[in-house]
Parts: sequence; C-alpha cells; structure tokens
Amino acid sequence: MISDATTEKSAAGLRSEDAALPTERRPCAPSGGAPEILRRVDEALVRMYGPKSLKPSREPVGELIHIILTQNTSDVNSDRTYAALRRTYDSWEDVAAASAPEIADVIRIGGLADIKAARIVDVLARLEADHGHIGLGALGGMDDDEAFAYLTSLPGVGPKTAACVLLFALGRPVFPVDTHVHRVANRVGLVDTKQPAATQAELAPVVPDDILYQLHMNMVEHGRRTCRALRPECERCGLGGDCAWHRARA
Ligand code: SF4
Repeated sequence: MISDATTEKSAAGLRSEDAALPTERRPCAPSGGAPEILRRVDEALVRMYGPKSLKPSREPVGELIHIILTQNTSDVNSDRTYAALRRTYDSWEDVAAASAPEIADVIRIGGLADIKAARIVDVLARLEADHGHIGLGALGGMDDDEAFAYLTSLPGVGPKTAACVLLFALGRPVFPVDTHVHRVANRVGLVDTKQPAATQAELAPVVPDDILYQLHMNMVEHGRRTCRALRPECERCGLGGDCAWHRARA
C-alpha cells in the first residue's frame, strides 16, 4: 500500500480537492509493486471501458477556467456553461474586464455561479499581474514540478485542477485524482488515504507515463458507472481479484 501524506487548504464553497501537495516524485511504498498493479488495473479497466487517448482541445487558460466551471456540476452543464462564457466574451481579457456579478449571470446554469465567477476574476487578474497578459504560455518554460507549483499558487487552484491543466491542455505526465479516482484507488488498495489530494500525492509519482491519461479517464468512468460510492457493482467488475475491498467482503 502506498503511504498517506498530505495537507489540505479549504476552497470556500467548492469541493475540497484543492489541497497543497508535495510536487517532488517520491519513491513507491509497495516495494516496487505499484507500477505492475497499476498496469493490471489499467488493463482491466480498458477491457471494461475501452482505450483512451489524449486529444488536447483547449489552451491552458481555457482548460483552467473550464475546470473551475466543472466543480459541483455535471460534465454536460459545465460544457454548456463554458460555451456560454466563450460566446459572451471575445477574449479572456474581456472576461477579466467584466464584473463578477456579470460573469455569474452568464454561468448561472452551472451552479455556485457567484463563487465560480469570483474565482475566475481572481485567477485572470493574477495571470495578468504575473505575465502582463492573460495566458499560461510561461508554463512551457517550466518543468512539470515548477508548472504544478505555479498553478497551485493561483487563487483557489488545487492539485487536481493543476494536474488537469497540465495533463489535458499540455499533455504533461501529471496524474489528477478526483473523488472517483480517490474512491477506486482506496477500495482497490492502491492507497490508504482520506482525501483525493493525498491520493494524488501518492499515486502521481508512480503511475507509468504511458498509461497515465487512460488510467485517469477509466478510473473516473469506473467510479461513476461501477465502483459507485453506494452499492458498487463488484459482481461485474473486472478488478475483483485485485480489489482489497472486494476480497475483504467475499
Ligand atoms: S471489485 Fe467492487 S469495490 Fe473493487 S473496484 Fe470493483 S466495483 Fe469497486
């Protein structure tokens, strides 16, 4: 089992994935077995949900704003909300020039609109202050740890959001852990952690780069469709033999 270690900071009104993380790659606790176990989990999930390949679709600022909009709502709603924002404003500079209440009205459908709008305003203002324009091109000159540290220094941006920006927009090998990945990882016995941020701290250093995106996507799908918080469908799960939670109840 991979050991537990993390600290957490609150993100007012939003899910508590946004906790501080160590960024260094740390050794794998389960005596060299984690990559092999992770590959078995990946293979089982590919049999259940199919292969996944990364196709970056948004530039980094767009990805960051989109992830802010995904919090506490469905993918469909967050996509609609993001599309509404892009339709309403011609550029991120135009978004930054708008007031938080104006932005909140545009993104109302996604829920927590006032909180998300304030966060968007804060993030865009910080990017402009740091770079003289609204962009994340500076990440290109940073290694993965530096880029992760910079992103998590932005207001309200935690480890999952930072990892999603790095992985989805830039194809960097950084493993994001949301509530589904966290639940599946703990049930299977990959980690023994209390918070997604702690799970990310443990798993990110040991997930092989070549399966990283696919494993993330399929663990999320597994958590949504099969390994649900309540009444997981273990009888049709391809991970049964590797799952500590299931073995303990068999
Ligand atoms: S066997 Fe059950 S608890 Fe284990 S991963 Fe599968 S669905 Fe989740």
